[in-house]
Amino acid sequence: MVRYAVLGSGSNGNSYVFSDGVTSVLIDQGYSGVELQRRLASIDLDLSSVAALCITHLHPDHSKGVGVLARKLRIPIYLHSAMVEKEPVAFAKLGIPEECVSLVEPLREFSVGPFALRCFETSHDSGGSVGWHVIYDDMTLMVLTDTGTYTDQHLQLARSSKILFLEANYDEKMLHGGPYPYYLKQRISGLYGHLSNDQAMQFLQESEFNGEHVYFIHLSGTNNKPSLLSDMAHEKVKIPFTVCEKGRCYGGSMEKS
Ligand SMILES: [Zn+2]
Ligand SMILES: [Zn+2]
Repeated sequence: MVRYAVLGSGSNGNSYVFSDGVTSVLIDQGYSGVELQRRLASIDLDLSSVAALCITHLHPDHSKGVGVLARKLRIPIYLHSAMVEKEPVAFAKLGIPEECVSLVEPLREFSVGPFALRCFETSHDSGGSVGWHVIYDDMTLMVLTDTGTYTDQHLQLARSSKILFLEANYDEKMLHGGPYPYYLKQRISGLYGHLSNDQAMQFLQESEFNGEHVYFIHLSGTNNKPSLLSDMAHEKVKIPFTVCEKGRCYGGSMEKS
C-alpha cells in the first residue's frame, strides 16, 4: 500500500509526501523544518522515514526548507540539472551539502526504496522547472504544478496515472478583475505562469484522465475560491476529486489493483 499526502499547497508553502510506511519521498519542501515535521506527524509519518526529496523548481514556496532538511537528514536531493545551470544564485542560496545534490534528467527513471521516480519539464518562470511521476508497483502518481501551459507529453503522462495532483491556481475573472498589478496578472496568466481553473478542466478533458482521484492544488488565496472551483469540477469532472484549500493537508492511500 502506498500512502500519499498534500502536506500543503499554495503560495505559503508546498510539499507532497509518498510513503510505504518505511520509506517516504518528499516532493518540494516550502516549510521550515519544524513545520514540516508537524505536518508529517499529523498524518502519522516520522521525519526519519524521509529517504529523498525531489524538487519541482526553486521558487521559495517550494524550496525554502530544502537546505535545512538536507543538512539535517543528509539525504539525496533530486533536481533537474537545468535548474542548477539556469538558477545558480537561487540554487546556491539553498545551501544543500554537495554530497546530497543528485542531478537528474527529464524522463530518466531512478529509484528510492520501493519507488521509481522521473521528472518531466514544465513551463514556468523558474529555470529547469519540472513536474514529477512517482511510481509504486503498477501505480503512478503525478504532480503537475506551477506551469503556465500543458503539453502533449503532460497529457500522455496523466493518461497513465492513477492519482493526479493538478494545479488550478486562479479563476480568470477573479484574476483580471482583482487587486494584482497588471504585470503580475500577465505573469500569472502567461505561458510561464500558472494553470487556471479552466485550463485544469481542459487538461482533464483532453487527457481523458481516468484514474482514481484528482487533487486540485496550488489555489491562489486572492484569485481563486475553493467553492467556485468545486462547483466547476462537479459539473465537469466525472471522477472523484478534492479541492485542496491553501495551506491545508490532504491525504489518501492506494492498494495494488
Ligand atoms: Zn513557482
Ligand atoms: Zn508555487
